[in-house]
Amino acid sequence: MPKSVLVINCGSSSIKFALLLEDQDFRIHGLAENLGTPEARIKGVTVGNEPVDIHIPNAGHSEALEVGLSRLANYKPDAIGHRIVHGGTLTKAELITEDIIDTIRQATPLAPLHNPAHLVGIEATRRLFPDLPQVAVFDTAFHQTMPAHAYRYAVPKFLYTEHNVRRYGFHGTSHAYVSERGSELAGSLKQGGWLVAHLGNGSSTCAVWNGQSVDTSMGLTPLEGLVMGTRSGDVDPSMHSFLAKNLGWDIYKIDKMLNSQSGLLGLSDLSNDMRTLIEASEKGNEDAALAIEVFCYRLAKSLSALSCGLPRLDGLFFTGGIGENSAYIREKTLGYMPHFGFNLSKDGNNNLKRGTEGRIDNGTGPQIWVVPTDEEGRIAKETASVVQSGLGALTAKKSEAVSA
Ligand code: ADP
Repeated sequence: MPKSVLVINCGSSSIKFALLLEDQDFRIHGLAENLGTPEARIKGVTVGNEPVDIHIPNAGHSEALEVGLSRLANYKPDAIGHRIVHGGTLTKAELITEDIIDTIRQATPLAPLHNPAHLVGIEATRRLFPDLPQVAVFDTAFHQTMPAHAYRYAVPKFLYTEHNVRRYGFHGTSHAYVSERGSELAGSLKQGGWLVAHLGNGSSTCAVWNGQSVDTSMGLTPLEGLVMGTRSGDVDPSMHSFLAKNLGWDIYKIDKMLNSQSGLLGLSDLSNDMRTLIEASEKGNEDAALAIEVFCYRLAKSLSALSCGLPRLDGLFFTGGIGENSAYIREKTLGYMPHFGFNLSKDGNNNLKRGTEGRIDNGTGPQIWVVPTDEEGRIAKETASVVQSGLGALTAKKSEAVSA
Protein backbone atom coordinates (compact mmCIF):
# COMPACT_ATOMS: atom_id res chain seq x y z
CA MET A 1 0.00 0.00 0.00
CA PRO A 2 1.50 3.42 -0.90
CA LYS A 3 2.33 5.36 2.27
CA SER A 4 2.28 8.76 0.62
CA VAL A 5 0.41 9.95 -2.46
CA LEU A 6 1.11 13.08 -4.44
CA VAL A 7 -2.14 14.52 -5.80
CA ILE A 8 -1.81 16.70 -8.90
CA ASN A 9 -4.48 18.95 -10.37
CA CYS A 10 -3.02 20.48 -13.50
CA GLY A 11 -4.73 23.44 -15.19
CA SER A 12 -3.64 25.29 -18.32
CA SER A 13 -1.50 27.81 -16.41
CA SER A 14 -1.59 26.46 -12.87
CA ILE A 15 -0.90 23.33 -10.85
CA LYS A 16 -2.36 22.52 -7.46
CA PHE A 17 -0.46 19.79 -5.70
CA ALA A 18 -0.68 18.11 -2.35
CA LEU A 19 1.27 15.36 -0.68
CA LEU A 20 -0.86 13.21 1.60
CA LEU A 21 0.64 10.76 4.01
CA GLU A 22 -1.03 7.47 4.90
CA ASP A 23 -3.23 8.72 7.74
CA GLN A 24 -4.21 11.72 5.56
CA ASP A 25 -4.00 14.08 8.51
CA PHE A 26 -0.63 15.33 7.37
CA ARG A 27 -0.73 17.27 4.12
CA ILE A 28 1.65 19.56 2.30
CA HIS A 29 0.03 21.87 -0.23
CA GLY A 30 1.34 23.89 -3.12
CA LEU A 31 -0.02 26.08 -5.85
CA ALA A 32 1.97 27.05 -8.93
CA GLU A 33 0.29 29.79 -10.91
CA ASN A 34 0.76 32.04 -13.96
CA LEU A 35 2.91 29.32 -15.52
CA GLY A 36 4.61 30.25 -18.78
CA THR A 37 4.58 33.97 -17.88
CA PRO A 38 7.12 36.28 -16.19
CA GLU A 39 4.84 36.27 -13.09
CA ALA A 40 5.02 32.50 -12.57
CA ARG A 41 5.30 31.61 -8.89
CA ILE A 42 4.80 28.87 -6.34
CA LYS A 43 2.89 29.63 -3.18
CA GLY A 44 1.97 27.95 0.02
CA VAL A 45 4.16 24.85 0.04
CA THR A 46 4.62 24.30 3.72
CA VAL A 47 6.97 21.88 5.37
CA GLY A 48 6.60 22.35 9.12
CA ASN A 49 3.93 24.96 8.35
CA GLU A 50 6.34 27.41 6.74
CA PRO A 51 4.69 29.55 4.09
CA VAL A 52 6.60 29.69 0.84
CA ASP A 53 6.43 32.12 -2.07
CA ILE A 54 8.93 31.43 -4.85
CA HIS A 55 9.17 33.48 -8.02
CA ILE A 56 9.95 31.22 -11.02
CA PRO A 57 9.79 33.56 -14.05
CA ASN A 58 8.57 31.86 -17.27
CA ALA A 59 8.63 28.40 -15.69
CA GLY A 60 6.46 25.76 -17.32
CA HIS A 61 4.64 22.84 -15.69
CA SER A 62 7.68 20.57 -15.47
CA GLU A 63 9.95 23.15 -13.89
CA ALA A 64 7.26 24.27 -11.45
CA LEU A 65 6.69 20.69 -10.33
CA GLU A 66 10.41 20.16 -9.94
CA VAL A 67 10.88 23.30 -7.83
CA GLY A 68 7.69 22.69 -5.81
CA LEU A 69 8.47 19.08 -5.09
CA SER A 70 12.03 19.84 -4.08
CA ARG A 71 10.45 21.68 -1.11
CA LEU A 72 8.95 18.45 0.14
CA ALA A 73 12.30 17.66 1.76
CA ASN A 74 12.14 14.16 3.22
CA TYR A 75 8.62 13.39 2.10
CA LYS A 76 8.90 11.46 -1.14
CA PRO A 77 5.73 10.16 -2.77
CA ASP A 78 5.11 6.44 -3.35
CA ALA A 79 2.40 7.04 -5.97
CA ILE A 80 0.88 9.92 -7.92
CA GLY A 81 -2.82 10.59 -8.47
CA HIS A 82 -3.92 12.98 -11.22
CA ARG A 83 -7.29 14.70 -11.21
CA ILE A 84 -8.63 14.36 -14.77
CA VAL A 85 -11.78 16.28 -15.71
CA HIS A 86 -13.01 14.12 -18.61
CA GLY A 87 -12.57 10.38 -18.85
CA GLY A 88 -15.24 9.75 -21.48
CA THR A 89 -17.11 6.61 -20.45
CA LEU A 90 -14.43 5.21 -18.11
CA THR A 91 -16.17 4.14 -14.93
CA LYS A 92 -13.34 4.19 -12.38
CA ALA A 93 -9.84 5.42 -11.60
CA GLU A 94 -7.16 3.73 -13.73
CA LEU A 95 -3.42 3.12 -13.64
CA ILE A 96 -1.93 5.45 -16.26
CA THR A 97 -0.81 3.50 -19.32
CA GLU A 98 -0.44 4.51 -22.98
CA ASP A 99 -4.06 3.34 -23.53
CA ILE A 100 -5.37 5.54 -20.72
CA ILE A 101 -3.38 8.51 -22.04
CA ASP A 102 -5.03 7.87 -25.43
CA THR A 103 -8.48 7.83 -23.82
CA ILE A 104 -7.77 11.15 -22.07
CA ARG A 105 -6.56 12.58 -25.40
CA GLN A 106 -9.66 11.32 -27.21
CA ALA A 107 -11.90 13.04 -24.65
CA THR A 108 -10.18 16.39 -25.36
CA PRO A 109 -12.95 17.72 -27.64
CA LEU A 110 -15.29 17.28 -24.64
CA ALA A 111 -12.99 19.18 -22.21
CA PRO A 112 -10.77 21.33 -24.44
CA LEU A 113 -9.50 23.55 -21.61
CA HIS A 114 -8.79 20.82 -19.09
CA ASN A 115 -7.65 17.54 -20.67
CA PRO A 116 -4.64 18.97 -22.62
CA ALA A 117 -3.36 20.53 -19.37
CA HIS A 118 -3.77 17.21 -17.54
CA LEU A 119 -1.71 15.50 -20.26
CA VAL A 120 1.08 18.05 -19.79
CA GLY A 121 1.02 17.29 -16.05
CA ILE A 122 1.15 13.53 -16.62
CA GLU A 123 4.07 13.92 -19.01
CA ALA A 124 5.95 16.10 -16.49
CA THR A 125 5.44 13.76 -13.52
CA ARG A 126 6.35 10.71 -15.62
CA ARG A 127 9.61 12.43 -16.53
CA LEU A 128 10.31 13.44 -12.93
CA PHE A 129 9.24 10.13 -11.34
CA PRO A 130 9.69 7.44 -14.02
CA ASP A 131 9.51 4.63 -11.45
CA LEU A 132 6.37 5.67 -9.57
CA PRO A 133 2.90 4.28 -10.33
CA GLN A 134 0.56 7.02 -11.57
CA VAL A 135 -3.22 6.92 -11.49
CA ALA A 136 -5.87 8.95 -13.31
CA VAL A 137 -8.94 9.83 -11.24
CA PHE A 138 -11.78 11.12 -13.42
CA ASP A 139 -14.40 13.75 -12.54
CA THR A 140 -16.81 11.97 -14.87
CA ALA A 141 -16.40 8.41 -13.53
CA PHE A 142 -18.82 8.61 -10.57
CA HIS A 143 -21.68 9.56 -12.91
CA GLN A 144 -21.27 6.56 -15.20
CA THR A 145 -23.97 4.80 -13.14
CA MET A 146 -26.62 7.23 -14.43
CA PRO A 147 -29.40 5.44 -16.32
CA ALA A 148 -29.83 6.18 -20.04
CA HIS A 149 -33.00 8.19 -19.39
CA ALA A 150 -30.85 10.59 -17.34
CA TYR A 151 -27.81 10.78 -19.62
CA ARG A 152 -29.34 10.85 -23.10
CA TYR A 153 -30.27 14.12 -24.82
CA ALA A 154 -33.39 14.23 -26.98
CA VAL A 155 -31.40 14.74 -30.19
CA PRO A 156 -30.91 12.34 -33.16
CA LYS A 157 -29.55 8.95 -32.04
CA PHE A 158 -26.47 8.98 -34.29
CA LEU A 159 -25.08 11.95 -32.34
CA TYR A 160 -24.87 9.61 -29.35
CA THR A 161 -23.84 6.40 -31.10
CA GLU A 162 -21.31 7.95 -33.48
CA HIS A 163 -20.18 11.12 -31.69
CA ASN A 164 -20.61 10.39 -27.95
CA VAL A 165 -23.02 13.29 -27.47
CA ARG A 166 -24.57 12.54 -24.07
CA ARG A 167 -24.59 13.87 -20.54
CA TYR A 168 -21.44 12.95 -18.56
CA GLY A 169 -21.53 15.07 -15.40
CA PHE A 170 -18.53 16.45 -13.49
CA HIS A 171 -17.37 17.11 -9.89
CA GLY A 172 -17.70 13.32 -9.52
CA THR A 173 -14.86 13.05 -7.00
CA SER A 174 -16.56 15.60 -4.76
CA HIS A 175 -20.04 14.13 -5.12
CA ALA A 176 -18.66 10.65 -4.40
CA TYR A 177 -16.79 11.81 -1.29
CA VAL A 178 -19.56 14.02 0.10
CA SER A 179 -22.38 11.52 -0.47
CA GLU A 180 -20.35 8.73 1.12
CA ARG A 181 -19.16 10.79 4.08
CA GLY A 182 -22.58 12.42 4.56
CA SER A 183 -24.44 9.12 4.55
CA GLU A 184 -21.87 7.77 7.02
CA LEU A 185 -22.49 10.76 9.32
CA ALA A 186 -26.23 10.14 8.99
CA GLY A 187 -25.69 6.54 10.11
CA SER A 188 -26.57 4.87 6.79
CA LEU A 189 -23.29 4.49 4.90
CA LYS A 190 -23.96 4.49 1.14
CA GLN A 191 -27.64 3.79 1.72
CA GLY A 192 -30.73 5.79 0.85
CA GLY A 193 -31.49 8.76 -1.36
CA TRP A 194 -29.47 11.95 -1.08
CA LEU A 195 -29.09 15.21 -2.96
CA VAL A 196 -25.69 16.90 -3.07
CA ALA A 197 -25.18 20.61 -3.82
CA HIS A 198 -21.52 21.31 -4.67
CA LEU A 199 -21.33 25.11 -4.77
CA GLY A 200 -17.99 26.71 -5.66
CA ASN A 201 -16.80 28.72 -8.65
CA GLY A 202 -18.15 25.80 -10.63
CA SER A 203 -21.35 24.36 -9.16
CA SER A 204 -23.36 21.21 -9.70
CA THR A 205 -26.01 19.06 -8.05
CA CYS A 206 -26.18 15.27 -7.89
CA ALA A 207 -28.80 12.70 -6.89
CA VAL A 208 -27.28 9.65 -5.20
CA TRP A 209 -29.18 6.42 -4.55
CA ASN A 210 -27.49 3.72 -2.44
CA GLY A 211 -24.07 5.26 -3.09
CA GLN A 212 -24.46 5.61 -6.87
CA SER A 213 -25.02 8.73 -8.96
CA VAL A 214 -28.40 8.53 -10.69
CA ASP A 215 -28.48 12.07 -12.10
CA THR A 216 -26.48 15.27 -12.05
CA SER A 217 -26.89 18.83 -13.30
CA MET A 218 -23.82 19.11 -15.57
CA GLY A 219 -23.96 17.48 -18.97
CA LEU A 220 -21.83 17.06 -22.08
CA THR A 221 -19.67 19.87 -20.68
CA PRO A 222 -19.50 21.62 -17.29
CA LEU A 223 -21.64 24.47 -18.67
CA GLU A 224 -25.03 22.79 -18.22
CA GLY A 225 -27.11 23.25 -15.09
CA LEU A 226 -26.69 25.74 -12.26
CA VAL A 227 -25.74 29.43 -12.33
CA MET A 228 -21.99 29.49 -11.55
CA GLY A 229 -19.29 32.13 -10.98
CA THR A 230 -18.86 33.01 -14.66
CA ARG A 231 -20.89 30.24 -16.36
CA SER A 232 -24.50 30.74 -17.38
CA GLY A 233 -25.72 27.21 -16.68
CA ASP A 234 -28.89 26.30 -18.59
CA VAL A 235 -30.07 28.68 -21.28
CA ASP A 236 -32.50 28.16 -24.14
CA PRO A 237 -30.35 26.43 -26.80
CA SER A 238 -31.89 28.79 -29.36
CA MET A 239 -30.06 31.68 -27.69
CA HIS A 240 -27.09 30.69 -29.86
CA SER A 241 -28.94 31.19 -33.15
CA PHE A 242 -30.65 34.31 -31.78
CA LEU A 243 -27.25 35.89 -31.01
CA ALA A 244 -25.77 34.73 -34.31
CA LYS A 245 -28.67 36.06 -36.39
CA ASN A 246 -29.30 39.29 -34.51
CA LEU A 247 -25.87 40.33 -33.22
CA GLY A 248 -23.70 38.54 -35.79
CA TRP A 249 -21.76 36.68 -33.09
CA ASP A 250 -19.80 33.57 -34.05
CA ILE A 251 -19.82 30.37 -32.01
CA TYR A 252 -16.50 31.17 -30.28
CA LYS A 253 -17.79 34.49 -29.02
CA ILE A 254 -21.01 32.89 -27.80
CA ASP A 255 -19.06 30.09 -26.09
CA LYS A 256 -16.79 32.60 -24.35
CA MET A 257 -19.72 34.71 -23.23
CA LEU A 258 -21.56 31.71 -21.74
CA ASN A 259 -18.45 30.29 -20.04
CA SER A 260 -16.52 33.34 -18.84
CA GLN A 261 -18.76 36.40 -18.82
CA SER A 262 -22.05 35.03 -17.50
CA GLY A 263 -23.30 33.48 -14.25
CA LEU A 264 -22.97 35.60 -11.10
CA LEU A 265 -20.54 37.91 -12.91
CA GLY A 266 -22.87 38.47 -15.86
CA LEU A 267 -25.99 39.00 -13.76
CA SER A 268 -24.36 41.33 -11.23
CA ASP A 269 -22.01 43.12 -13.63
CA LEU A 270 -19.79 43.24 -10.55
CA SER A 271 -18.10 39.99 -9.51
CA ASN A 272 -18.09 36.20 -9.82
CA ASP A 273 -17.35 35.91 -6.11
CA MET A 274 -20.30 35.14 -3.86
CA ARG A 275 -18.79 36.86 -0.81
CA THR A 276 -18.38 40.10 -2.75
CA LEU A 277 -21.97 39.86 -3.97
CA ILE A 278 -23.41 39.24 -0.50
CA GLU A 279 -21.51 42.27 0.84
CA ALA A 280 -22.63 44.43 -2.10
CA SER A 281 -26.23 43.34 -1.76
CA GLU A 282 -26.17 44.18 1.97
CA LYS A 283 -25.10 47.68 0.94
CA GLY A 284 -28.07 47.96 -1.42
CA ASN A 285 -26.64 46.84 -4.78
CA GLU A 286 -29.75 45.54 -6.60
CA ASP A 287 -27.89 43.70 -9.36
CA ALA A 288 -25.89 41.77 -6.76
CA ALA A 289 -29.11 40.95 -4.89
CA LEU A 290 -30.73 39.68 -8.09
CA ALA A 291 -27.68 37.55 -8.98
CA ILE A 292 -27.92 35.86 -5.54
CA GLU A 293 -31.66 35.34 -5.95
CA VAL A 294 -31.28 33.74 -9.39
CA PHE A 295 -28.45 31.55 -8.07
CA CYS A 296 -30.57 30.24 -5.17
CA TYR A 297 -33.78 29.83 -7.16
CA ARG A 298 -32.04 27.92 -9.95
CA LEU A 299 -30.25 25.75 -7.38
CA ALA A 300 -33.56 24.91 -5.67
CA LYS A 301 -35.11 24.16 -9.07
CA SER A 302 -32.25 21.81 -9.96
CA LEU A 303 -32.41 19.97 -6.61
CA SER A 304 -36.18 19.61 -6.98
CA ALA A 305 -35.80 18.22 -10.52
CA LEU A 306 -33.06 15.79 -9.51
CA SER A 307 -35.18 14.44 -6.66
CA CYS A 308 -37.20 12.66 -9.41
CA GLY A 309 -34.25 10.27 -9.78
CA LEU A 310 -34.58 9.10 -6.16
CA PRO A 311 -37.08 6.47 -4.96
CA ARG A 312 -36.93 8.18 -1.54
CA LEU A 313 -35.38 11.41 -0.28
CA ASP A 314 -33.40 11.07 2.95
CA GLY A 315 -31.68 14.41 2.84
CA LEU A 316 -29.42 17.02 1.34
CA PHE A 317 -25.69 17.73 1.64
CA PHE A 318 -24.17 21.18 1.05
CA THR A 319 -20.52 21.46 0.07
CA GLY A 320 -18.00 23.64 -1.86
CA GLY A 321 -16.84 27.15 -0.87
CA ILE A 322 -20.38 28.59 -0.93
CA GLY A 323 -22.20 25.49 0.37
CA GLU A 324 -19.80 25.05 3.28
CA ASN A 325 -19.53 28.69 4.32
CA SER A 326 -22.74 30.53 3.57
CA ALA A 327 -25.64 29.99 5.96
CA TYR A 328 -27.42 32.77 4.06
CA ILE A 329 -27.33 30.94 0.69
CA ARG A 330 -28.36 27.64 2.32
CA GLU A 331 -31.38 29.26 3.99
CA LYS A 332 -32.40 31.20 0.90
CA THR A 333 -32.21 28.09 -1.31
CA LEU A 334 -34.31 25.99 1.05
CA GLY A 335 -36.82 28.84 1.15
CA TYR A 336 -37.63 27.98 -2.48
CA MET A 337 -38.38 24.32 -1.62
CA PRO A 338 -41.06 24.51 1.09
CA HIS A 339 -43.03 21.51 -0.19
CA PHE A 340 -40.12 19.07 0.46
CA GLY A 341 -40.61 19.30 4.22
CA PHE A 342 -37.03 20.38 5.00
CA ASN A 343 -36.91 22.00 8.44
CA LEU A 344 -33.76 24.07 8.74
CA SER A 345 -32.56 24.84 12.25
CA LYS A 346 -31.82 28.57 12.11
CA ASP A 347 -29.35 28.36 14.98
CA GLY A 348 -27.77 25.16 13.71
CA ASN A 349 -27.32 26.74 10.28
CA ASN A 350 -25.98 30.08 11.50
CA ASN A 351 -23.74 28.69 14.21
CA LEU A 352 -22.02 25.93 12.25
CA LYS A 353 -18.31 26.61 12.48
CA ARG A 354 -16.67 27.22 9.11
CA GLY A 355 -15.04 24.23 7.52
CA THR A 356 -16.73 21.74 9.86
CA GLU A 357 -19.21 18.95 9.28
CA GLY A 358 -22.58 19.30 10.89
CA ARG A 359 -26.29 18.59 10.76
CA ILE A 360 -28.38 21.75 10.37
CA ASP A 361 -32.02 20.56 10.35
CA ASN A 362 -34.19 20.51 13.44
CA GLY A 363 -34.64 16.74 13.53
CA THR A 364 -37.87 16.47 11.52
CA GLY A 365 -38.22 16.00 7.76
CA PRO A 366 -35.37 15.12 5.40
CA GLN A 367 -31.93 15.67 6.95
CA ILE A 368 -29.73 18.64 6.00
CA TRP A 369 -25.96 18.43 6.45
CA VAL A 370 -22.93 20.54 5.64
CA VAL A 371 -20.10 18.24 4.55
CA PRO A 372 -16.81 19.93 3.57
CA THR A 373 -15.57 18.28 0.41
CA ASP A 374 -12.19 16.56 0.23
CA GLU A 375 -11.34 15.91 -3.40
CA GLU A 376 -7.62 15.55 -2.61
CA GLY A 377 -8.27 12.95 0.07
CA ARG A 378 -10.59 11.01 -2.23
CA ILE A 379 -8.07 11.11 -5.12
CA ALA A 380 -5.32 9.89 -2.76
CA LYS A 381 -7.55 7.07 -1.50
CA GLU A 382 -8.55 5.96 -5.01
CA THR A 383 -4.93 6.17 -6.17
CA ALA A 384 -3.75 4.01 -3.27
CA SER A 385 -6.48 1.47 -3.95
CA VAL A 386 -5.72 1.24 -7.71
CA VAL A 387 -2.00 0.82 -6.99
CA GLN A 388 -2.75 -1.77 -4.31
CA SER A 389 -5.00 -3.83 -6.60
CA GLY A 390 -2.40 -3.53 -9.39
CA LEU A 391 0.23 -4.92 -7.01
CA GLY A 392 -2.23 -7.67 -5.98
CA ALA A 393 -2.77 -8.63 -9.63
CA LEU A 394 0.99 -8.67 -10.20
CA THR A 395 1.57 -10.96 -7.18
CA ALA A 396 -1.23 -13.27 -8.35
CA LYS A 397 0.34 -13.46 -11.85
CA LYS A 398 3.76 -14.20 -10.39
CA SER A 399 2.45 -17.06 -8.22
CA GLU A 400 0.53 -18.41 -11.26
CA ALA A 401 3.77 -18.42 -13.21
CA VAL A 402 5.58 -20.22 -10.38
CA SER A 403 2.88 -22.89 -10.04
CA ALA A 404 2.55 -23.39 -13.84
P1 ADP B 1 -13.54 26.34 -6.57
O1 ADP B 1 -14.76 25.85 -7.31
O2 ADP B 1 -12.65 27.22 -7.39
O3 ADP B 1 -12.82 25.24 -5.80
P2 ADP B 1 -14.50 27.17 -3.96
O4 ADP B 1 -15.14 25.86 -3.68
O5 ADP B 1 -13.33 27.57 -3.14
O6 ADP B 1 -14.13 27.35 -5.49
O7 ADP B 1 -15.64 28.29 -3.81
C1 ADP B 1 -15.40 29.62 -4.11
C2 ADP B 1 -16.67 30.39 -3.84
O8 ADP B 1 -17.01 30.26 -2.44
C3 ADP B 1 -16.54 31.88 -4.11
O9 ADP B 1 -17.68 32.36 -4.81
C4 ADP B 1 -16.49 32.47 -2.70
O10 ADP B 1 -16.99 33.78 -2.64
C5 ADP B 1 -17.41 31.52 -1.98
N1 ADP B 1 -17.31 31.67 -0.51
C6 ADP B 1 -16.27 31.37 0.28
N2 ADP B 1 -16.55 31.73 1.57
C7 ADP B 1 -17.80 32.25 1.56
C8 ADP B 1 -18.66 32.79 2.55
N3 ADP B 1 -18.30 32.87 3.83
N4 ADP B 1 -19.89 33.23 2.18
C9 ADP B 1 -20.27 33.16 0.89
N5 ADP B 1 -19.51 32.66 -0.09
C10 ADP B 1 -18.29 32.21 0.23
